[in-house]
Amino acid sequence: MTARRSIPLLAMLGLMTAGCEPQPMGWADGRALASLDMSPFSLLPAVTVAPMPTAVGAGFDRPEGLSASEGQSFSVGTASRGYLVGGTPLRRDHEALKVRPVSIQRRAIHGTHDVIEALERAATAVSRRWPGSQLYAGDISAKEGGDIRHHASHNSGRDADLTFYLRGPNGAIADGPDMEVLDRDGRTPGGLVFDDARNWELVAAFLQNPNVQVQWFFVARHLRARMLTYAKRTGADPRLIARASATMRQPGDSSPHADHFHLRFYCQLEERLRGCVDTGVRHGWIDTFAAEIEVEISRIVALLRSGGDEEKRYVIKRIGQLALSSGARHLEPLIEDPDPTIRIMAIDTIAFLRGVRTPPAWAHLTDEDVGE
Ligand SMILES: [Zn+2]
Repeated sequence: MTARRSIPLLAMLGLMTAGCEPQPMGWADGRALASLDMSPFSLLPAVTVAPMPTAVGAGFDRPEGLSASEGQSFSVGTASRGYLVGGTPLRRDHEALKVRPVSIQRRAIHGTHDVIEALERAATAVSRRWPGSQLYAGDISAKEGGDIRHHASHNSGRDADLTFYLRGPNGAIADGPDMEVLDRDGRTPGGLVFDDARNWELVAAFLQNPNVQVQWFFVARHLRARMLTYAKRTGADPRLIARASATMRQPGDSSPHADHFHLRFYCQLEERLRGCVDTGVRHGWIDTFAAEIEVEISRIVALLRSGGDEEKRYVIKRIGQLALSSGARHLEPLIEDPDPTIRIMAIDTIAFLRGVRTPPAWAHLTDEDVGE
């Protein structure tokens, strides 16, 4: 890349012209931090500096040297370009949460520990109230995450497909592993009916679980309407209804989800610190871990003291991924950097963090990942 003139502060504040548009590949070179002398990092706790050469703009590299201790697991990257470390499998002997055989065949039954536990907890809550209820988990993620067939997402252990609770024509519980499309009246071709009460209870159980945060329940519009109508009619907490209303959504760009729920969970704090990245909407009530991320950012910024270019790139990428607007101020000194590629990275990332514009290199973090 040819040398550029130093770009003034005004440009960074969103007045970049088309001629100054960055070359995303120019800094999405994926060069590994592994090539660095790691000594500057050794003073910091391991979790602070995820040894993660994230190739921003081209997806996420599987982290080298990250491992989960017993019973621990975490999600890395985004739901559609990420990985899973220490994935927990669904149990085969759970009373309320069953596993679809096809998902066992596909080896897509691993999630983060917290996600698997949340699935079990929600299914258990429903079956306590309606004994005999059986929820079937469909595809989650592969043991190590990454791309799996049939899905654009499900990469990082934070997506889960679930069957609907159904009743037969006689009103009896008729749950099963099939995922058949429900028509406008909430009926399968075989005449089974969407159970408004139990499906609402399931949604409520996830939203009331303090250990996880749900971003989306992808579900068809007519089924969403049935559950919300049921909730209002039975006097559910209006705040819960508002949250359900915001999180249940029929995706515009994939299957309408008239045959199953697809849940997406936000990254947990520990995961954010290790390179888990949320995309799209952050609902108003969720904990964004701003205070903890702030602390993390000040630790990462300490790497700049080394003065190395790779450290600078790493710091810019990590602060961008942490996606906290207050992180932008730490990058301001880098807009005067002698290296033009570092200047461009810093300017782009500051603009992204402040919501001024979305440079191509960061576009994948504003995507609404589809629910497939
Ligand atoms: Zn899905």
